[in-house]
Amino acid sequence: MRIAQRLVVLAVSVFIAMAAHAAAPLATTPAVGFYRMMIGDYQVTALSDGTVPLPVTKLLTNTTAEKVTKALDRAFLSDPLETSVNAYLINTGSKLVLVDTGAGSLFGPTLGKLVANLKASGYQPDEVDEVYITHLHPDHVGGLMAGDSMAFPKAIVRADRHDADYWLNKAAIATARESDRPFFEGAMKSLKPYSAAGRFKTFDGNTQLVPGISAVPARGHTLGHTTYVVESKGQKLLLWGDLIHVAAVQFADPSITIEFDTDPRAAAIQRKKAFADAAKQGYWVAGAHLPFPGIGHLRSEGKGYSFVPANYAPAP
Ligand SMILES: [Zn+2]
Repeated sequence: MRIAQRLVVLAVSVFIAMAAHAAAPLATTPAVGFYRMMIGDYQVTALSDGTVPLPVTKLLTNTTAEKVTKALDRAFLSDPLETSVNAYLINTGSKLVLVDTGAGSLFGPTLGKLVANLKASGYQPDEVDEVYITHLHPDHVGGLMAGDSMAFPKAIVRADRHDADYWLNKAAIATARESDRPFFEGAMKSLKPYSAAGRFKTFDGNTQLVPGISAVPARGHTLGHTTYVVESKGQKLLLWGDLIHVAAVQFADPSITIEFDTDPRAAAIQRKKAFADAAKQGYWVAGAHLPFPGIGHLRSEGKGYSFVPANYAPAP
């Protein structure tokens, strides 16, 4: 072989050797977003709808941006804060109940992953018997719709009357705060087909909805904001909805509120009450915006609380 030919052969063989040792390309498949545990005889599946970056130093109220930045810093976090949107599926053995539905298409492309994760967890949307809504904000009701059709075609949807009377009332839009106005349309669009089919039903305050699951009002974040208690065989899980938005800030100081609160003072009172009770009684809690899966216990610490996330365990 001539020198030039030899060089080409050498170059090709070096290239082949390099290619054989090249690093694998970065994976881009979505992470599976479900986490399962048992509460007595009930199987609870936390479902991720995704995360959304929130400018929390601007959104949190009854505090200062400096204080929020300091609290985030202590938790090795920064603004904007990647914020989880979670929903919870409970299989009681006789009913499959979904609490909240994520944002669907109402909150941008990083959310709306609930149905994919529900399927990944081993269930199908048409198996859901009941959907309980903590409140009618878009990141909780948007997932009721899949495009133009109902995401849960066989489910009865329930929410507190006070939230429905407000967010589904066209006349309330005129007197609502500017920042709340887009929320009305989202709520109306998401519930319309269920209402038309006679499958949207309201309740008023404390109500047992199915055996083992009850609505417990915690009004303030919205007028009808509701928590749901799940109880089986002496074990208890309280689904908090939006009683807390920013774990790194509001556990230590539950008096800190958020722009989205309809009645911030009432929201803070409900949060303090819920935190004190959870820490005293030691039951499980879960939050729609706690870092996924958002399930754990509360412990008193100084003037505030700290959250102890569930220990990872294989899915039961
Ligand atoms: Zn929310």
